[in-house]
Amino acid sequence: MSLSSSELFRSAELTRLLAGEIRQAVTRPWNIMEICGGQTHAILQYGLDQLLPPEITLIHGPGCPVCVTSLEAIENALQIAHLPEVIFTSFGDMLRVPGAKANLFSARAEGADVRVVYSPLDAVKLARENPQKQVVFFAIGFETTVPSIAASVLHAERNQITNFSILPANVLVPPAMHAILQSPDNRVNAFLAAGHVCAVMGYWEYEAIAARYRAPIVVTGFEPVDLLRGILMTVRQLESGRFVVENAYSRAVTREGNLAAQEMIKQVFEPVDRQWRGIGIIPLSGLGLRPRYADFNALQRFPLTRQSPMESPLCIAGQVLRGNATPHDCPAFGRECTPASPLGAPMVSSEGACSAYYRYQRVKA
Ligand code: SF4
Repeated sequence: MSLSSSELFRSAELTRLLAGEIRQAVTRPWNIMEICGGQTHAILQYGLDQLLPPEITLIHGPGCPVCVTSLEAIENALQIAHLPEVIFTSFGDMLRVPGAKANLFSARAEGADVRVVYSPLDAVKLARENPQKQVVFFAIGFETTVPSIAASVLHAERNQITNFSILPANVLVPPAMHAILQSPDNRVNAFLAAGHVCAVMGYWEYEAIAARYRAPIVVTGFEPVDLLRGILMTVRQLESGRFVVENAYSRAVTREGNLAAQEMIKQVFEPVDRQWRGIGIIPLSGLGLRPRYADFNALQRFPLTRQSPMESPLCIAGQVLRGNATPHDCPAFGRECTPASPLGAPMVSSEGACSAYYRYQRVKA
């Protein structure tokens, strides 16, 4: 009987085999960061961290899009959402992410017209159907979501839909990798790069990072076999003193990536400095609209009051997102902070490390 591809990439036999190869390959302690929150969830869901030898420490990275969306961006979103002429649209995960005092979900309960959309093009459609309203899309996420956001801006421009705008908050992976590796308290020896980001952007940008910081980077998928294969390739590089980019996800990723998507991103957006929640400003780590598309920027369209919101003093999400603590280190984990009553974004998101620990490893192993 032949295995389907999802059965193959979740095969217990292959998983055991790869874990054994990792145990044989490792001779020293290594810290490997998986960038993506989806990978963190898969690691905990399948207990892959428990299969690894004690020399390997997996550090969870900042790759949860709603977790790193800054408090300022959320406060701006709340202000815009409360304007009577606005229909505010967002991916669903973002609604429950706490701002300083409220979230988009509570704004909706207070009467704001906040709607979940599955694509930014749905927001453009809403704008077309509601010409008397201003429709704003909360543009969050990594490189994976940006092509569809760029397409929505181009579509609105082409069709002269002038009551559509975006609240720009997208972030980029490579500048975050630079920031992590340059940090004085960095512990990361190597990265598993997120396969879906590389499917869009390719991995050519990572080659200079691997060489400059002598840190192997392996493009990795999301199934147990993908992840263990990525870890094995990383460990083999570390043990042999090689520092290059390798692709363990060749069924979805090429070095160049999706050139048409990259071209569309470049047409609409340009790199800007961006504030990451819990981390701070990372130079050129965000995407802002190019001057030609400035009319689609909600920050320019609506007069907003500038605020300096404060995080909950109990939440150590910044340390978790920088890989300097795990959710188990947080005194509020599972007590004051649960998915039903989250204090920080990583407990809300389906890609947040705290929600992954709450679902799969509530008690420290
Ligand atoms: S468990 Fe909650 S309070 Fe603690 S770091 Fe995670 S989100 Fe913040």
